[in-house]
Amino acid sequence: MAIVTRFAPSPTGYLHLGHAFSALTAWRRARQAGGTFLLRLEDIDPARCRPGFSAAILQDLAWLGLDWDGEVRAQSAHLPEYRAVLDGLAARGLVYPCFCTRTDIAREVAASATAPHGPDGAVLYPGTCRRLPEEARAARLAAGEPHALRLDMARALAAVPARLDYEEEGEGTVACDPAQFGDAVLARKDAPASYHLCVTHDDALQGVTLVTRGADLRAATGLHRLLQALLGWPAPRYAHHALLTDATGRRLAKRDSAATLRQMRAAGMAPAALRARLDPALA
Ligand code: GLU
Repeated sequence: MAIVTRFAPSPTGYLHLGHAFSALTAWRRARQAGGTFLLRLEDIDPARCRPGFSAAILQDLAWLGLDWDGEVRAQSAHLPEYRAVLDGLAARGLVYPCFCTRTDIAREVAASATAPHGPDGAVLYPGTCRRLPEEARAARLAAGEPHALRLDMARALAAVPARLDYEEEGEGTVACDPAQFGDAVLARKDAPASYHLCVTHDDALQGVTLVTRGADLRAATGLHRLLQALLGWPAPRYAHHALLTDATGRRLAKRDSAATLRQMRAAGMAPAALRARLDPALA
C-alpha cells in the first residue's frame, strides 16, 4: 500500500524547530517510499488561529525545502463536513449538548467526593448536562443557549469492540484507554468542532496511512482510535516522535521566538544545514 503522511500544524504562531522536525519526519517518510506528503492547516479555532500564520507556515516550509502533494487543506473551509459528522453522532445518541461554563464545572467538581483527571491533567467533566431531563435540554436548546457537544463516553464505548488498539511503529500493538478522557468535547461553544474530531475525520478522508507527530499527542491517540471505530474510519499507523527541547531541557513552544524558522532565516541560516541538523537521515 502506498504510504501517505501529513504535517498538520495549527496556525497559532510561527513554526519553530520542533515543527520543522515533525514536518521533515513526515516528508522524508513519504518521499523515501515514493508516497504522498500532505499539508493540512488545523485552523479550526477562530480565537487562536490567524491567517497570517497560515501564510507564514507555507513560506517557512518552502524555505526549508519541503514540497507537499496536492492542495493544502484548511480545516476552516470544511466546517459543514465536521458538522455532518457531529449530526450523525447526535442522531445515534452519542453526543449531547453541554451548557456548562468553566465555573459551573468547577462548582460541581468541588461539591463531589471524587474528581478524576484526564491525561492532559484537566479534571474530567462530571456529566451534569448528560443527566439533564430531556425537556430541560430541549428548552435550553430552543432558547438558543450556547453549548458545546460532548461525547457520551459510556455509550460510545458500548458501541465499539471492547478492546481497541493501535499500531505504534517500533512498539507494535498498543491498547487504548479512551475512557480516561471522560465525556470529551467534540465541538466547543466558541469553535465549531474539536481537534480530535477534525484530525480523525481528515486523516480518514485524505487516506493518511502513517501519522507522524510529537509524543505530546500520544495520549490523544486512544480517543482518536475510538472515534475511528465509532465512525467506521480506517486506523492509520502511528509514529510518535520525541519532542525537541532547548538547552535547558525545556520543550520548545511557539512562544519561544528565538527558535522560529523565521528568525533562523533572518539570521542567515542555510535551510540545508538546518535540515541536516534536525534529521541526520537527510544529511
Ligand atoms: N494540529 C496539531 C498541532 O499543531 C497536530 C495534529 C496532529 O498531528 O495530529 O499540535
